[in-house]
Amino acid sequence: MSSSSSVSPILVWFRQDLRLDDNPALEAALQLGAPIVALFIEDSSSACARAPGAVSRWWRDQSLAKLDADLRARGSQLIFKTGDPAEVLSRVIDEVCARGVYWSRQYEAQDVARDTAIKETLKQRGLLAESYNASLLFEPWEITAKSTGGPFKVFTPYWRACRARGLDSHLWSAPRALPAPETQPESEALPQASAPQGADLLGAWNPGEAGARTALDLFLTQNIRGYDERRNFPAEPATSRLSPHLRWGEISPRRIVAATFEAQASGAIQTSDGDKFLAEIGWREFAYQLMFHNPQIQDTCLVEKFEAFPWRQAPDDLEAWKNGQTGYPIVDAGMRELRRTGFMHNRVRMITASFLIKHLLIDWREGEKWFWQCLADADPANNTASWQWVAGCGADAAPYFRIFNPILQGPKFDKAGVYTKTYCPELEPLSGKTLFAPWTAKSDMLDSGQITLGKSYPNPMVNHEAARARALDSFKSL
Ligand SMILES: Cc1cc2nc3c(=O)[nH]c(=O)nc-3n(C[C@H](O)[C@H](O)[C@H](O)COP(=O)(O)OP(=O)(O)OC[C@H]3O[C@@H](n4cnc5c(N)ncnc54)[C@H](O)[C@@H]3O)c2cc1C
Repeated sequence: MSSSSSVSPILVWFRQDLRLDDNPALEAALQLGAPIVALFIEDSSSACARAPGAVSRWWRDQSLAKLDADLRARGSQLIFKTGDPAEVLSRVIDEVCARGVYWSRQYEAQDVARDTAIKETLKQRGLLAESYNASLLFEPWEITAKSTGGPFKVFTPYWRACRARGLDSHLWSAPRALPAPETQPESEALPQASAPQGADLLGAWNPGEAGARTALDLFLTQNIRGYDERRNFPAEPATSRLSPHLRWGEISPRRIVAATFEAQASGAIQTSDGDKFLAEIGWREFAYQLMFHNPQIQDTCLVEKFEAFPWRQAPDDLEAWKNGQTGYPIVDAGMRELRRTGFMHNRVRMITASFLIKHLLIDWREGEKWFWQCLADADPANNTASWQWVAGCGADAAPYFRIFNPILQGPKFDKAGVYTKTYCPELEPLSGKTLFAPWTAKSDMLDSGQITLGKSYPNPMVNHEAARARALDSFKSL
């Protein structure tokens, strides 16, 4: 394969598939045997889907730099442009006399509409325009319920149908070299969003394709043991931490499936652990099919009657929740973990989300927006589907009357308090159940630990029993 050529090039438009491994659009371009222009466009048009939140954007920029380095190591580079994708593509096509564009699909309604229009225009011009599935095991329209012919509304039968189809699929390895055009188009400098103040993101993460593979290997060789149970304990390194890598497509779910099957077949991991892990990947698939078939999922309750829910307007309470100052240590630890690391353990996401929605009666959309800003893995499908799940207004959701008890969840899932004390160090002197309900500690215990409730750590902002009763009453009023 020559490193440069005068043959008409093909553009590969990278979007949320920031990898070279198992990238079908890239593979299709390679099959053409033409020079490849690797392009990323910062969509600045008014019709674009929601822009990434602060931490997710930081991640993306780190990932773009890694992708550029990987491309350069193969004789190519990443071309970065800002603008309306339709116009940018048209300009770059003209500049390099490209024969067309290949890309990986996205599933937010605005993206689908934009891509459909772009494809049509390019084809009308007689150019190549093809899109591929790079981020899901199944297209959102592929798995349908026999009874209705439509999408599944409940996860268990959905995942059963996926497994019955078979999760195996063909994988492409990263190419060793990429044919580049004689002259690359002009590129803007790659963006470098800085991390939000107070966050130590590089201490916690390694964005990019290589980091994704390391995370997968570490998980399958060391941390997956007992996943079904241990994944509930936030102090344990018992989950894969692959979510931000998946968000930006630094690894394909097909690669994750293949590696998991291989580890199961070789006996390196328990079949049950591997299956449970794959089912979580299945929840991601389920969220994507929900979003695809319900494009309004980001701001409209899937169960319509919840639109009439009597939410409280309580900006001070919302701020206290965001700042990890609710007076409930397991909630505060989660909210502070989010601020510091751009991540929150799944169990604690459920507890903190339930607290906002049910104890504070604040609209789930406020919480969703905050998570969107703060999460490295903030994902258009997973975030909205999960918030609707906790609120009880989503598909296959937890019933509204399931209210996580922030006093009992702590001793159950963080018994030794390791997680809670990491993020609420002012509570270090407390232990056992009092750690999770400091107001029940004897005053001499608080004094000796120099804890002054209301000063060094907040008093609980609501009484658990009263808040629970209020939430149930509000629900009954629907
Ligand atoms: C309120 C709330 C908001 C959430 N927001 C997001 C979000 O924006 N982005 C996101 O990726 N996940 C979100 N989740 C789901 C889940 O918390 C994270 O995917 C998980 O904590 C990521 O950690 P991990 O990669 O170590 O997970 P693992 O346990 O290792 O799971 C493997 C992968 O499966 C997928 N997954 C796991 N649980 C879920 C789930 N419940 N729904 C959909 N996919 C899942 C993720 O891609 C994850 O990386 C949210 C959950 C809640 C309760």
